[in-house]
Amino acid sequence: MSALLSVSDAHVAYGKVEAVRGVSLEVLDDEIVTIIGANGAGKTTLLNAIMGILPLRGAAAFADQDITRLEIEDRVAAGLSLVPEHRELFSTMSVEDNLQLGAFRVAKAVAARSFERVYTLFPRLKERRKQLAGTLSGGEQQMLAMGRALMGAPKLLMLDEPSLGLAPIIVADIFRTVGELREAGVSVLLVEQNAQAALKIADRAYVMELGEFILDGPAADIAGNARVVASYLGFQHD
Ligand code: ATP
Repeated sequence: MSALLSVSDAHVAYGKVEAVRGVSLEVLDDEIVTIIGANGAGKTTLLNAIMGILPLRGAAAFADQDITRLEIEDRVAAGLSLVPEHRELFSTMSVEDNLQLGAFRVAKAVAARSFERVYTLFPRLKERRKQLAGTLSGGEQQMLAMGRALMGAPKLLMLDEPSLGLAPIIVADIFRTVGELREAGVSVLLVEQNAQAALKIADRAYVMELGEFILDGPAADIAGNARVVASYLGFQHD
């Protein structure tokens, strides 16, 4: 089976400084893959390059198409979607209008189905659909950012630090929804500093340090790796 997303020998630089240095990764259909690593390892940079926000040297293919040089909107049309670390919602617009913006490229019938799907995944958003995004709690804003990214019916959802700033009980909620996405046929590439939560839910994991992958494998194996336990899991608690 060919991978849904395949990145080979990717390099991403800010001027002369290489933040991503020759990484390769794959995400298969119906897979949750996580990239864990400390602050500044290059995780956000890599996601942004896959989305086309930053130029990538190397190769990237998605759904049997070479996307290395595609514009962002063509990557979206191919089925890629990114929920950025800072969520980037329109705070003075309602929940419903924020969701509608995520569907502006798709046909009306698809948008109607997407609304239904998002409201089923996040009943809280349905309850608050008339409320302004800026008045939502942090957890609800994360749900809205994910909901908006799902409105275009992507094949792969990339999530950048969805747990950032959220209480553990909300994090559990968000991660449960990530599991439901896979059941709904959406693959997930999840970047997280909360390694414990990410490894629990993922099928496979990559560990990133200083722009490189130093380890990869089934999430359960990575969670049991002595180096990972010492560096990323030792002092975290549920
Ligand atoms: P975080 O969890 O803090 O977002 P990260 O693993 O996602 O960490 P990146 O944000 O991708 O890491 O940063 C990787 C490296 O690139 C860091 O050394 C960072 O300082 C640098 N960097 C990030 N953004 C820029 C930028 N716009 N200009 C220059 N250097 C940058």
